[in-house]
Amino acid sequence: MFIARRLWPVAAVCALVGLSSCSQTAELSSTQLGPESLSADPDHTSTTTVSTTTVSLDAASTTARQPDQPTIMRIRLDRRVSDEATEGFEPTVQAVLASDRGWTRAGFEFVFTDSDETDFDYTVVLAEGPEVDSLCLPYDTFGEFSCQIGPVVALNADRWRVAVDNWPTTLDDYRTMLINHEIGHLLGQHHPESRCPGEGQPAPVMAQQSSGVEACTANPWPLPWEIICVQEGVEPLAPPYETDIELTCGPDGPVRQTSPVVP
Ligand SMILES: [Zn+2]
Repeated sequence: MFIARRLWPVAAVCALVGLSSCSQTAELSSTQLGPESLSADPDHTSTTTVSTTTVSLDAASTTARQPDQPTIMRIRLDRRVSDEATEGFEPTVQAVLASDRGWTRAGFEFVFTDSDETDFDYTVVLAEGPEVDSLCLPYDTFGEFSCQIGPVVALNADRWRVAVDNWPTTLDDYRTMLINHEIGHLLGQHHPESRCPGEGQPAPVMAQQSSGVEACTANPWPLPWEIICVQEGVEPLAPPYETDIELTCGPDGPVRQTSPVVP
């Protein structure tokens, strides 16, 4: 059973159980919390931002986490491919998520269960494109990309094997970025407004780096402000499929974006 080990306001509970009509509080009352439709990562699709407004951090304080109590994420790793290139999947994911360069800095602790155990809250799957496509529905991952939807992160095995053509650094870096990006979605984070905050700067890990880093440098680890966004806990863990309204987070805090549905 999927249980979020985190205290959430009504809005978050609504999202966790997949209800779209729950009322919400404070500045968030008129919008539907949850991921932009790009939580799935069909990186070749695009979002046209209709409007953006800065959202008060007051709302975030309602879900602030206890700094001395790590939030435990019990994850089952489910590798559904068996070739040599994917054999290191489990230890790699575990090492990335245990790293002090990653989401642990936001107060999360990742605990892993064997594939035959039932005591887990989230699943990270590595599978071939068609299976990822099925797991990610109604997001469209085109047989090429990965997604997070509810308690499931589905990673495309081909991306794991060879990254993408335009990836500028190492395959290890790509895999690290892929893990941190999709787990970032699991922690409620969305793609930032800007894929590149400035020439020569590291790209946010929540940017869609698979489709290019523009003038930025490739970056597999969350930036300091991305850590703060997770610490603030504005958005629910494990957001379900949602569509046309999003709340994202940037260097200046939460920002509401209104975007059309992306197929
Ligand atoms: Zn994404």
